[in-house]
Amino acid sequence: MKAEIITVGTEILMGSIVNTNASFLARECAAMGLTSFYQITVGDNEKRLTKLIQEARKRSDILIFSGGLGPTEDDLTKETVAKACGRKLVEDPESRKWIEKLFTGWGRTPTENNWKQALVPEGALVLKNDNGTAPGIILEHEGTHFILLPGPPHELIPLFRDKVKPYLEKLSGTVFHSAMVKVIGIGESQVEDELKDLIDAQTNPTIATYAKPGEVGIRVTASADTEKKAKALVKPVVKEMKRRFGTNVYTTREEVSLEQAVLKLLKKKGMTLSLAESCTGGLLAGRLVNVPGASKVFVSSAVTYSEKAKRQLVGVSGKTLRKYGAVSEECALEMAKGAAKRLHTDCAISVTGFAGPDGGTDKDPVGTVYIGVVIGDKSLCKKRFFNGTREYVRNMAVTAALVHFRELMLSL
Ligand code: ATP
Ligand code: MG
Repeated sequence: MKAEIITVGTEILMGSIVNTNASFLARECAAMGLTSFYQITVGDNEKRLTKLIQEARKRSDILIFSGGLGPTEDDLTKETVAKACGRKLVEDPESRKWIEKLFTGWGRTPTENNWKQALVPEGALVLKNDNGTAPGIILEHEGTHFILLPGPPHELIPLFRDKVKPYLEKLSGTVFHSAMVKVIGIGESQVEDELKDLIDAQTNPTIATYAKPGEVGIRVTASADTEKKAKALVKPVVKEMKRRFGTNVYTTREEVSLEQAVLKLLKKKGMTLSLAESCTGGLLAGRLVNVPGASKVFVSSAVTYSEKAKRQLVGVSGKTLRKYGAVSEECALEMAKGAAKRLHTDCAISVTGFAGPDGGTDKDPVGTVYIGVVIGDKSLCKKRFFNGTREYVRNMAVTAALVHFRELMLSL
């Protein structure tokens, strides 16, 4: 079956927002084996949207729309699709109740246009939106499946995964199951090289690699007529990848992040963690705190940006700073040891480096970062170099800090 993604919104055309919905939906469609030849963005304009619908339904079986389901005047996706299919809009009592409930919870009174969101094309399947007021809508009309989703990604993504995906699977009579093998410490080309035989032989499951700064994801997707069979096809391939990449694999699940995996390890060992951050200035703490329940193991981060702060907050000696400088192995180790001691934790990580664009020395140019790790009475320091903008260097330093901490943790 052919699917086409239609993102609606003048904001997208103007470049004010990044069209992440299109990439998310495209990835999901590809993983489900749906063919997609067109991906289109159209502004909030009834005439142009109508014309597009007429063209798209001739060439695709499934039209997935994102955006324009809101309460305001410029939200017109639902109205335009209904009109194109000759369907009246009728109120869906469940959606009305849900809108009422949400507004009561917020202590606000809905205005007349809010009720507009409870209107759906006659004969449509209504998908309750747990994260917002506008429900998703599926309408089958003369062999075309119109799937309408709200624009905000935190509404669209769960609606798609929980409700649209099962609908599409039923439609195609095929169930898909994916695993995401996440690898750190090895570059994408090496990962692909080591998987060459598997990639060359792939049919079902399929294998695709995705590189992002500091890690490589390998998606393994299988299709079958039941979930159980699809899972059984994925399992041995994932097992083989884990065998090849060993502890460089930190998870096989899409939703698990590196920081989450690190916190889980700490929790398992009953250990606590503190940080001393120089060039990352709290970025590492921010990544850890993103994980719900981080407080069970993560205690504190000292942002020791200046030399004075390094001395006063984590006890780096004046001698070390004078002799080796703030960006050095000696300083990184003293920062980590000082953090563990002063913040009373079993483990600590420190980061100090030249994020640029200015600074650096001949020996340690901009992009050089030292990462100190302390776990009980064990410690190590890693020197890394990242070539890129200040933002890139800081983000890579955070990822590297987590990678090296995990390394020492697993070696004990
Ligand atoms: P709302 O009820 O919030 O108005 P909506 O379904 O009408 O939702 P839009 O008004 O088109 O959707 O967009 C609302 C917001 O959703 C945008 O401001 C933007 O933050 C986000 N959004 C919309 N389309 C996309 C997209 N294609 N990719 C990423 N984000 C998007
Ligand atoms: Mg809107």
